[in-house]
Amino acid sequence: MNKGKKLYEGKAKILYEGPEKGTAIQHFKDDATAFNNLKKSTVEGKGVLNNRISEHIFNNLNQIGIKTHLIKRLNMREQLVRLVEIYPVEFIVRNVATGSLTKKLGIADGTVLSKPLLEYSYKNDDFGDPLIAREHILEFKWVPSELHLDLINSYCLRINDFMQGMFRGVGIKLVDFKLEFGVANIDGKNEILLADEISPDTCRLWDVVSEKKLDKDRFRKDLGNIVQAYQEVARRLGIIHEESNISSVKFGKPKAVNIKKK
Ligand code: 5GP
Repeated sequence: MNKGKKLYEGKAKILYEGPEKGTAIQHFKDDATAFNNLKKSTVEGKGVLNNRISEHIFNNLNQIGIKTHLIKRLNMREQLVRLVEIYPVEFIVRNVATGSLTKKLGIADGTVLSKPLLEYSYKNDDFGDPLIAREHILEFKWVPSELHLDLINSYCLRINDFMQGMFRGVGIKLVDFKLEFGVANIDGKNEILLADEISPDTCRLWDVVSEKKLDKDRFRKDLGNIVQAYQEVARRLGIIHEESNISSVKFGKPKAVNIKKK
């Protein structure tokens, strides 16, 4: 599919104009960044895995009635998506305290929260994505109305419920994650869509038994074996084959095999 001009380049993805009005092509890069761009590297194979994992999760969410920007995956690194005007808010859902929650408030790492905790940060690198209150979002109209915000909050909790179950089923604890939403005009109607990606770059995922980190904290904390951890997530979700490793993963169509007729 022909890509149009580059619309936006982020830390881990590039957005190109899509083939039709209102569409875009989302390209997953291998670049990894952390701490507001202070730490940068390339993790070979990460983009391919995130493309597949995010496609899998978005398709599943679509099936439970969450509208997303994903139209279809195009190839190893690209998805055809609806062009969405992103609200400048990161919606963070936490089930277990870790990361910035422990750093900011001194809560013991690993504390299981009595119910999912929903946080908001202002999506703005110049200010380091600061934690904000619901009132900031409404006052500065980062989301158009209280009704929209309540709707997004309810989506966040439904997505958490669904993903917790999905990951628990494959021996992974969903510790926390970040979501982005935006608005797109579909057939003359404005719709709130889940956008961006859901992948080990945007979630914290711990093995249920060993608590081994299977997410971007391996990069943030220099734990090594980043791509192997992402691959483990893809394998457990049944996205890639049991014996696959990144050098042999085939992300194309299944190959035809000759079956001898009796
Ligand atoms: P924390 O606030 O503890 O740093 O992050 C909470 C969760 O949101 C983690 O799963 C983290 O990966 C995700 N998250 C928060 N902000 C960002 C961001 O700017 N980029 C990415 N990729 N993930 C984020």
